Amino acid sequence: QDSTTMSIDVQHISKTFGTFRALDDVSLKINDGELVALLGPSGSGKTTLLRIIAGLEAPDPNPGTSIRFYDEDVSRRAVGERQVGFVFQHYALFRHMTVFENVAFGLRVRHKSTRPSKEEIRDRVERLLSLVQLAQFSKRYPSQLSGGQRQRVALARALAVEPKVLLLDEPFGALDAQVRKGLRAWLRRLHEEIHITSVLVTHDQEEALEVADRVVVMNNSKIEQEGSPDEVFHSAKTQFVMEFLGQVN
Ligand code: ADP
Repeated sequence: QDSTTMSIDVQHISKTFGTFRALDDVSLKINDGELVALLGPSGSGKTTLLRIIAGLEAPDPNPGTSIRFYDEDVSRRAVGERQVGFVFQHYALFRHMTVFENVAFGLRVRHKSTRPSKEEIRDRVERLLSLVQLAQFSKRYPSQLSGGQRQRVALARALAVEPKVLLLDEPFGALDAQVRKGLRAWLRRLHEEIHITSVLVTHDQEEALEVADRVVVMNNSKIEQEGSPDEVFHSAKTQFVMEFLGQVN
């Protein structure tokens, strides 16, 4: 038996929408604390796989299919019971709440039953906001922040639920190239600080290579290749997939 603890272990995942097979027997293991990028052209199945890991979508009910987090079968658990944090491209911050209140919302969700005191909430929100380097913005509303700052608030809110796993779906996709570059470096540093198991969906090759510990290349509903950023970058197969990607994006 495998002795290392897998943070995420999904086996034989297929997903069919009507007659279209969006995922075709995909298996993936992610180590504790690893940051994995799912890289591939648009329509290759990345988001569908992420949504299945999260519990937002159910895989086709095949006999060999399994979804495990830290050796526990979570396939029957709803999204709210999987201890996952999300950040999506279109930030869903609450517009009528300040930065502080947005992050506190995540904390209240997490600690529904224990009801932390006002002081505890304040301490934790302040810690999370300094982690994402936004401590001085806590009284602002989302409309008073840049796109990149909003995504950092979204990340703080996702971390407030104390997730076991962080799922990022094109988190910087809506931002311009310069801001994205800055956020990539920032996300890498943050990951080195907190080492939370993370899956980043992206169609940006540079982003995947710069941020991830390991890159998983998807194409045509399958995992085509995986390896360290270096291995993937030097692979002829990846070059082929990404050339194709260059044409579609
Ligand atoms: P990616 O994230 O790599 O761009 P997706 O996982 O979003 O790819 O989508 C893979 C394919 O599955 C796409 O062709 C998409 O149109 C299709 N698809 C995804 N979700 C649905 C859905 N709810 N209903 C029908 N087709 C879907």
